[in-house]
Amino acid sequence: MKKYIGPHVSAAGGVHNAPVNAHAVGAAGFALFTKNQKRWEAKPLEPAVIGAFNKNMEMYGYDPRMVLPHDSYLINAGHPDKDARERSVNALIDEAQRCAALGLTLLNIHPGSHLQAITVDECLGLIAESVNIVLDRTDGVTIVLEATAGQGSNVGFRFEHLAAIIDKVNDKARIGVCIDTCHIFAAGYDIRDEQSYSETMREFERVVGFKYIRGLHLNDYKGALGCRVDRHESIGKGSLGTGAFRLLMEDARFDGIPCVLETPNEEIWPDEVKMLKKMVKS
Ligand SMILES: [Zn+2]
Ligand SMILES: [Zn+2]
Repeated sequence: MKKYIGPHVSAAGGVHNAPVNAHAVGAAGFALFTKNQKRWEAKPLEPAVIGAFNKNMEMYGYDPRMVLPHDSYLINAGHPDKDARERSVNALIDEAQRCAALGLTLLNIHPGSHLQAITVDECLGLIAESVNIVLDRTDGVTIVLEATAGQGSNVGFRFEHLAAIIDKVNDKARIGVCIDTCHIFAAGYDIRDEQSYSETMREFERVVGFKYIRGLHLNDYKGALGCRVDRHESIGKGSLGTGAFRLLMEDARFDGIPCVLETPNEEIWPDEVKMLKKMVKS
């Protein structure tokens, strides 16, 4: 299996359930929250839960390369307010430590928001500063910056934003990016046919570089190109269409990384996984 395709699964009842849920839908990879994504506080992972997680990972044949944990929605590493930013940095450190405790090596984050209080460039600088602190204070986990739709005051919707953050991160070996198909399309990057796809990927290579690609989020889109709202749709049922996903699945530059579905209809996850796996050229 060259591409680790699977959904962002539930970790309800404990993170050890995530590999079980992934296996149940035929996933070769998956994403999860290692804590409640809508709360700041979380009790530390219990050794028994960590043990059960490792056991289930092994039982179903998953390894850390196939898993892309997602951070809490509350975190804003580029928050204009110093105290609020510090809270986010501490939460990110906790998230990275949770990943490390589970033997996981990646942590996908939404870069941050300027909240109309600072410029985009200032916000990008603060995010880099925050990432540097998190990397200094943790071990073994790579921070993966997710390309955003550019909704509200979120930054990270231009490849240049991601490159500007990476540029200021000291440990280049532990910073990466995740392309979310719905987000980049919402941000104005077309990938619907061969020509637009290759232009967008050429642009990504020129500005960021595929050497930084650590994850892919596979979502169709409920909106028009460039309209900058974040609305996910099931694969093939939105404005992207199956063509875009076929191009992605045939693209070897996305081999060996988690390819995560964040699509709204859980019922059809097994079918979506099957369909995407079929598109991968063997
Ligand atoms: Zn995403
Ligand atoms: Zn999204």
